[in-house]
Amino acid sequence: MHEFEILHKDLMGRIGKLRTAHGHVETPTIMPVINPNLISIEALEMKKYGAEMLITNAYIIYRKVDLREGAIKKGIHSLLGCEMPIMTDSGSYQLYEYKDVEVSNREILEFQQRIGSDVCVPLDIPTAPYEKRERAKNDLEETLRRMQEARSVIQNKMLAGVVQGSTFLDLRGESAKRAAEIGFDVYAIGGLVPLLESYKFDKLVDIIVASKMNLPLNAPVHLFGAGHPMLFPLAVALGCDLFDSAAYALYAKGKRYITSDGTKKVENLRVLPCSCPVCSSYSVEEVKESADLLASHNLWVTFEEMRMVKQSIAEGSLWELCERRCRAYPVLLNALKHITKYSALIEKYDPATKRPFFYLSECSAHRPEVLRYSYRLNRFTLSGNVLITTNLKEKGFSENEKFDHLFFVKPPFGPCPVELGESYPAGQSEIPAEIDNEAKTVALQNVLKLLEVNTGRAKFVFLYDGSWGGHPLVEEIRKYAEVRREE
Ligand SMILES: [Zn+2]
Repeated sequence: MHEFEILHKDLMGRIGKLRTAHGHVETPTIMPVINPNLISIEALEMKKYGAEMLITNAYIIYRKVDLREGAIKKGIHSLLGCEMPIMTDSGSYQLYEYKDVEVSNREILEFQQRIGSDVCVPLDIPTAPYEKRERAKNDLEETLRRMQEARSVIQNKMLAGVVQGSTFLDLRGESAKRAAEIGFDVYAIGGLVPLLESYKFDKLVDIIVASKMNLPLNAPVHLFGAGHPMLFPLAVALGCDLFDSAAYALYAKGKRYITSDGTKKVENLRVLPCSCPVCSSYSVEEVKESADLLASHNLWVTFEEMRMVKQSIAEGSLWELCERRCRAYPVLLNALKHITKYSALIEKYDPATKRPFFYLSECSAHRPEVLRYSYRLNRFTLSGNVLITTNLKEKGFSENEKFDHLFFVKPPFGPCPVELGESYPAGQSEIPAEIDNEAKTVALQNVLKLLEVNTGRAKFVFLYDGSWGGHPLVEEIRKYAEVRREE
């Protein structure tokens, strides 16, 4: 009945088309959380911001008699007054927050099915971060039991399998693997809200990767609770497709103004640094006084950022967007550096060619493209006399010398044969004139790799200019090549 089709890819991120009973949804996308108890922005209005799908809490509806009866009678779409696809949450968050809910897994699933939810969610058990392993394991087993039950209850609707396991990466992996064995239409990574609230984004990266590696690649993945736009580039780059945002309303309630790279307290706003319909029609004083206006602005910027992420996937510049956004907070930068530890994994999914490579910071030195380049150095089988020079202008060596092969050192890629000087990626990289040490280190490591691969086959001369002097790897190169410093 459903299908998820992947249209474009960049890093592990993708633009996809999710088919639901209420039409197609293009991912990545954010589902605004509609709370029927306190709707300030109507579900129908969400379309104008760019919403293609909504999420609402079936448990909150179930608990209130009038809402429950209304939902059963009219269906969830009529209750919310909107024909967009609707995902329903089960009350797990309430279970986590208040330790108890007045409904069983089977009851809430049957209810979701009955009210016509497009994507139903079992009542999984979130485990708080840094809980004892035994607790996380027990919660996980119960979650899996409930997911098995869900699979037998839900017949004609899409069903989400939820990955739990707290901060134990092996448990996250196991949870994802066993959920995949049961088989779901959407996979959701849950239990993240406390980590998000405490800005533990590096841990978030680990959890997403541990989960993703054990989930089917062609299935949509929902990152539960991550509604702040500053997280979208990173999370999408790691393969998350669906997001939910209660943040737009919660932040507004807390008088906080969301931007693509952080949050500002409204009381500190002197101007409105945004051009959304709210910020261009109201004064800063009006926005300060109205939670509804603030919620509306928060939604505009949330969807704007997701469109930016999508455009970046389409043009192959998602890494660059991540680098730009992650400069906003040290914790985000930390998370991006953490992602570079997974470059070998990301490299497997990243398209082999894309637009020119822009070197923006030392994180660029560890991009998947650079790692892929390093793998390919094994393919160069060299003989005769070889010159490797840091001088890109092909000067600095005697005209009398004859070289069979000439390589330029292109940071951060390293040795690039002159014949491939225009080819992607090394030949089509844009690097600043002032090269940082990280780019030099990676480049020289790759020079060493080329030398090692061809030891005994070719005779190497390594020629470097003053800006590379003093780098410890130049001394290392001396073991394999005649090293000359350009005067
Ligand atoms: Zn605005």
